[in-house]
Amino acid sequence: MNTSTSESLFSRAQKVMPGGVNSPVRAFRSVGGTPRFIERARGARIWDVDGNEYIDLVMSWGPLILGHADERVIGAAKSAAERGSSFGAPTEAEVRLAELVTERFPSMDLVRMVNSGTEATMSAIRVARAYTGRSKVIKFDGCWHGHADGLLVKTGSTGMQYGVPDSAGVPSAYAQETLVAGYNDLESVAPLAEEHGGDLAAIIVEPIAGNMGVVPPAPGFLEGLRSGADDTGAVLIFDEVITGFRVAPGGAQELYGVTPDLTTLGKIIGGGFPVGAYGGREDIMGCVSPLGSAVQAGTLSGNPVAMAAGVAVLEALAEPGVYDRLEAKAEKLTAALTVAAETAGVTVTTNRVGSMFTTFFGPGPYTNATQVGSADADAYGRYFHAMLDNGVAMAPSYCEAAFVSTAHTDEDLAGIIEAAGKAFAAVGTT
Ligand SMILES: *Cc1c(COP(=O)(O)O)cnc(C)c1O
Repeated sequence: MNTSTSESLFSRAQKVMPGGVNSPVRAFRSVGGTPRFIERARGARIWDVDGNEYIDLVMSWGPLILGHADERVIGAAKSAAERGSSFGAPTEAEVRLAELVTERFPSMDLVRMVNSGTEATMSAIRVARAYTGRSKVIKFDGCWHGHADGLLVKTGSTGMQYGVPDSAGVPSAYAQETLVAGYNDLESVAPLAEEHGGDLAAIIVEPIAGNMGVVPPAPGFLEGLRSGADDTGAVLIFDEVITGFRVAPGGAQELYGVTPDLTTLGKIIGGGFPVGAYGGREDIMGCVSPLGSAVQAGTLSGNPVAMAAGVAVLEALAEPGVYDRLEAKAEKLTAALTVAAETAGVTVTTNRVGSMFTTFFGPGPYTNATQVGSADADAYGRYFHAMLDNGVAMAPSYCEAAFVSTAHTDEDLAGIIEAAGKAFAAVGTT
């Protein structure tokens, strides 16, 4: 496979950007090799600058549930852009997107649009602190909530792949406000709630972890967090930046029937444009400026182009049967991947919820960050490169989710399965 144009772009990039990228995982550090520079994409297919074609399972890390360059989304964004890219004044599209979000998420009485998932979680925590007048936050080992200072503790993704649990540049005073419990481990929450309950502002969790690879909540885990929050008076925040509109129209909270106080969204609701959102109970959101005294603002927040794209996605997702079809495709794909691994004599464990899944190399189970840390990262690296060489783009780190979109055709799935047969053989027995 010729990758010479990507290589020369990557060397230019490294002269002007840290590591040559604008988000660290794109640099391929944990799998090695040169990141592919992308020229264009459509449906489930993506083409790099050397003209190589790949079937994509990254899907921009989750936003593209309708596939790349979906005509409805691009059409809506184009016509919005033609009317002006930003006004710094309210527009109807913001109201429409907020209506669609609050309709599907009954726990969200009010919602505020921001520009990224990071902003959403950072703001939700500020509002939880404003509401409770308390400062401590419980998060879970392996959960990623973006890169706000206080949340860069025991993260998945970026932290995990480099083996650095905390970031440099975060004052320890900030990190000390963040208490860490084990995912799926209510027993690790209880002593924290006991000791800090009176100063506990929030419990924030990915209701399905997606940033240490996919790790579903164990039965009773989310319910236990709900009652822990009720007992302490803390605000329960579900970070549904990945899972919102992904696993069900109303996200993981609908799927598991557990209601948080605040929810954060991103990714899908922006249709591939930069968007985040946070919202929840009216009395809590009443703390947000200008209703209340928790300040949060944004020059480009509620951007008309991004709002138009988001509305187009959510309207498309409202068509009947969309989630059933996504489920069926992902089920079929992961079942075939399991067979392909067995045929090659490679031990893998697939964690899947709806159209998001992770293939871990190892016997499992993978139910928390410690177990995920024991999966075979080198085997994933060999699999990743063999998949890429055979025309399938996966996340360049083993602790990430793969995403199936409505645009993945039977032919795309067959192509992935065929490539996986070769890739598992290349991994060798583990
Ligand atoms: C992606 C993600 C974020 C951060 O969103 P950005 O838009 O990258 O800032 C936060 N939480 C979760 C669960 C995510 O998956």
